[in-house]
Amino acid sequence: MITLDSVTKVYADRGKHVTAVDGVSLTVDSGEIFGILGRSGAGKTTLLRCLNLLERPTSGTITVDGVELVSMSRRDLRTARQRIGTVFQHFNLMSSRTAAENIEFPLEVTGVGRAERRQRVTELLELVGLSDRGGNYPSELSGGQKQRVGIARALAGRPSVLLSDEATSALDPATTEQILDLFKQINEATGVTVVLITHEAEVVRRICDSAALMESGRFVEQGPLLQLVGDPDSRLAEILLPTGDHDLSIPGRHLTLAFADERAIEPSLSRLSRDLGVEVSILGGTLERVAGHQVGRLRVVYQPGQASDDAVIGYLRERGVTVTAA
Ligand code: ADP
Ligand code: MG
Repeated sequence: MITLDSVTKVYADRGKHVTAVDGVSLTVDSGEIFGILGRSGAGKTTLLRCLNLLERPTSGTITVDGVELVSMSRRDLRTARQRIGTVFQHFNLMSSRTAAENIEFPLEVTGVGRAERRQRVTELLELVGLSDRGGNYPSELSGGQKQRVGIARALAGRPSVLLSDEATSALDPATTEQILDLFKQINEATGVTVVLITHEAEVVRRICDSAALMESGRFVEQGPLLQLVGDPDSRLAEILLPTGDHDLSIPGRHLTLAFADERAIEPSLSRLSRDLGVEVSILGGTLERVAGHQVGRLRVVYQPGQASDDAVIGYLRERGVTVTAA
């Protein structure tokens, strides 16, 4: 488990102070995939550098697996860093070393014996689907293959946390999907906790269980995705499952409905009309796979008076629909 409590990082930049991370508190459960979504300049990379101990926060605490890291001595930090693996946008591979040698490198540095290193590298190549590419140099690999090497290297020391800073931003959409699915597969196979930092909604939508929206160094929202999509005021939900620009001037009662299973939408709305005599019109919405579930988020309107609001809302809730008045 990872806990951040009021983490702040202030840089001194030519006499000016830049607060890159501003009081971020966060809990990531063990084994979960947590996404941090934000535009360029939001402070994502700085937060990740605090998490992987490349930067010391100006204030606040970071606890990984029960160990507080901010107050640690430099020597203890070196050991603590091994709990955390990082994957980078531009792979950061050594061009003079083969894929296998790149993966082996962190094991050499930490003094793992040769035989054990070799065996671990073979396992890791297999885990990332590169068993036949160990002898290739980075220049002989595609972007997706290079990132597979980057992921294997990050996992070499069996970290409990895998961090990624825009790991798919340099890849085309099809390769992005493959790499995201690989993160998910590794998370399921090894139980490693994953924190993905990204400016792409697709990354969060496709594989994250929980996420935070970061702006100007702060978390403006965070939570489990399946919970957020039911909240009509959630900006993360609107980014992941846009209900669109709905015309509130249309008279009637406006609701936001969230369905955890798209197959429930059609029957719920048509039965509502049959059982209660209420005609519901869909103003906008999206159906997508979110956090492994098919989720729909809809803005709907109906004419009050056909049935009481409580009856309509109660009817939908009984069928597992999250209903919120807009
Ligand atoms: P993101 O990864 O979300 O694009 P960054 O963490 O890179 O955001 O940057 C957040 C803010 O901190 C930006 O205003 C950036 O200019 C500033 N910043 C980042 N690193 C440094 C640094 N080493 N020195 C001074 N300012 C920095
Ligand atoms: Mg960045």
